[in-house]
This record gives sequence, structure tokens and C-alpha cells, in this order.
Amino acid sequence: MSSQILLLPGDGIGPEVVREARRVLEAADAQFSLELSFSEGRLGGIAVDEEGAAYPDATRALARDADAILLGAVGGPQWDALPAADRPERGLLAIRADLDLFCNHRPALLFPDLAEASSLRAELVAGLDVLIVRELTGGIYFGEPRGIATDADGVREGYNTDRYSETEIRRIGRLAFEAAQKRSGRLCSVDKANVLEVTMLWRETMEALSADYPDVALSHMYVDNAAMQLVREPKQFDVLVTGNLFGDILSDIAAMLTGSIGMLPSASLNADAKGLYEPVHGSAPDIAGTDSANPLATILSAAMLLRYSLNAPEAAAAVEGAVASVLAQGLRTADLIVDGSHAAPIGTRAMGDAVVAALQCH
Ligand code: NAD
Repeated sequence: MSSQILLLPGDGIGPEVVREARRVLEAADAQFSLELSFSEGRLGGIAVDEEGAAYPDATRALARDADAILLGAVGGPQWDALPAADRPERGLLAIRADLDLFCNHRPALLFPDLAEASSLRAELVAGLDVLIVRELTGGIYFGEPRGIATDADGVREGYNTDRYSETEIRRIGRLAFEAAQKRSGRLCSVDKANVLEVTMLWRETMEALSADYPDVALSHMYVDNAAMQLVREPKQFDVLVTGNLFGDILSDIAAMLTGSIGMLPSASLNADAKGLYEPVHGSAPDIAGTDSANPLATILSAAMLLRYSLNAPEAAAAVEGAVASVLAQGLRTADLIVDGSHAAPIGTRAMGDAVVAALQCH
């Protein structure tokens, strides 16, 4: 039975990196007979320009039909002046909410050949393998009321609301405990329970859930300490689980530990394992159209798509192996080259070519 993959290239470097990931998926299809078929839709700024909405009806219909979705990135300075409700980034929030993609997996894995590209000393990060599980459809990014109000004196006040129900906390908690069971059996829940009631409930709920997972050692950490510990001694962590806002920030910190934001994939899943797969980075308008973006985060997102939504672990491992192999060959896009190195960078397309070639040698 064929699997329908929806490609949403989006804005900025999105089309360049999604193009390379599609070529890698096609090569994996040829090798592993996956019977993939592709459709393409618009999301973000391009959808605002062409269809008048960041998550247009046509894209919604394609997304609901697809088995899995691969997204590039959305946003850019040309849309920054739009009212908040019409911005490209709202398309991303809308598709996550529409498909109920509440569970975001963000692995931070340091390929051995990139230890020198990390902003931390190689010995602190060599072998790093942390999974951040971020709640994605609740918390302050969605909480009502929200807005900017003007008082009688004409002074404006901005406000947002951070809220989580026990149901929301339990469902993300369960997936995090299950992820920890498949790894080293250690789960660290990150909150700010010393100040925020919403995270006091988060902590209580995680603690109650832990009774169902006696094989997982649950610990708790305040988010400010977690940010510090991630740069002090990142290998102490295995699986971290946290809410939407804290997860957004901590996963970008983890990004730098791995050498480049251009290396980090992510998966956002719903209860049926339908997923939206995307690199952690944004649309990088500063380098869009220059063939210098690193496509590996998107290619690794495609590997997660194969593993989680298409249940094709061998094909996923082959793609990950191909990425490791091109890095071991010394091939680097500009973002992976550390100061003082004399390596010449290769472009987006050449990196895609190299991964396809390594996959075919598999
Ligand atoms: P960004 O991730 O786009 O870029 C940050 C820096 O990292 C830039 O210097 C960029 O050149 C570099 N970079 C990012 N991805 C790279 C890659 N694959 N290869 C090489 N270098 C890379 O973040 P930003 O500059 O804060 O945001 C730019 C736009 O992207 C904004 O409109 C923002 O809203 C949007 N954004 C979208 C998403 C998403 O679609 N998921 C995520 C974050 C930001």
C-alpha cells in the first residue's frame, strides 16, 4: 500500500532543504520499495501571498489526507508587518492544532565527526544523545485570553495566558515516559513550579503518572537550572519533557550543543502516529536562495518520518547512516565549519547529492 507524503516547503530556505530531503526519500524508496507518493502544498508566507491565509483550506485538505507531512520552514521579514493573526507562523500553529500534533520529539544527537563544531568543549559533548519531548498544542502559545489592550490613559499592555489541563499534561507525560522506557529509563521533567501554578500542576501530574512507570526514574528540574545544566554538563540528561514555551527555548540551546541548528530534526505526532516532520531551524532569510543552507536537519526529519509514521526503521537507519557517512567523509556546509578550519564548504544541493550517493552505496 502506498504512503502519501505531503511536502510543505514554506518560505526562505524551506524549498531548498525540502527539495534535497525529497530526493533522499526517493532514493530510500527505490532501495526499500516503500511505495511513496508525494503531494505538495503551501503553508506560511507563500500561502498568505498566493491563497490569502497561512494555512489555507486546500492545504488543510491535503494535510488531513496525508500519511505524513514534511515541512521546510515558514516566515520572513516581508511578512513581519502583518497583524499577528495573519503572520506566516500562525500557519504552523494552525496545522499543529488542526492535526492535534501535541507531542514534539526533538533529538539532540552529536555525530562524532561534528564534536569540534559544538560551542562546548568536545569532551563535554562527544556522544551526546538527548531527547527533548515538548508539549506542542497547549501552554502560553495557545492560551486565552491573549492580546494587547489599551487602558484609559492610552498605555498599552500585552498579555498571554499559560494554561495546561491535567489531561494535556498526562498525554504528553505518557509519551515521554514511554520514550524513556525505550532509552535509558531516565526522564527529567522541566518546570518552574516554584513560581508558576500551571507548572505546579505539571509537576504533580508527572509525579502521579510515574507510579505507572516503575522502570523509569523520574526527576524534576526548574527551567532556569535546566538551561544552565544543558550547557554545563549536557550528557547528564537522557529524555527531557516540558511544556511548549520552555521546550522551544531548551531545544534551541540543545541545537548549539550539536554544532549547528542546521543539524536538528523534529517530529510532531498525534495519538495516531500521524506526524509533521520539520527541521528545528527557521526560514533563514539571510541565506535563502544562496545554495548554502544545510539540508541535513530536514533529511534527518525525513528519516524520523520513515521511522515514526511509515514504520520503516531500516530505511530510517539507512538515511541516518548516509548522513553520518558524508560527515565522516569531511563534507560540510558553511554552518558546520568551525573558525580556523581550512575546509571548503559545499552547497545545499551538493550535500543532498552526497547523502543520496551514500544511501545508494548502503
Ligand atoms: P533561523 O533559524 O531562520 O536562523 C537563525 C540563524 O541560523 C541564521 O543565521 C540562519 O542563517 C542560520 N540557519 C538556520 N537554518 C540554517 C540551515 N539549515 N543552514 C545553515 N544556517 C542556518 O531563525 P530566525 O532568524 O530567528 O528566524 C527567521 C524566520 O524564520 C523568522 O520569520 C521566524 O519567525 C521563522 N522561524 C520559523 C520556524 C519554523 O518554521 N519552524 C522556526 C523558527 C523561526
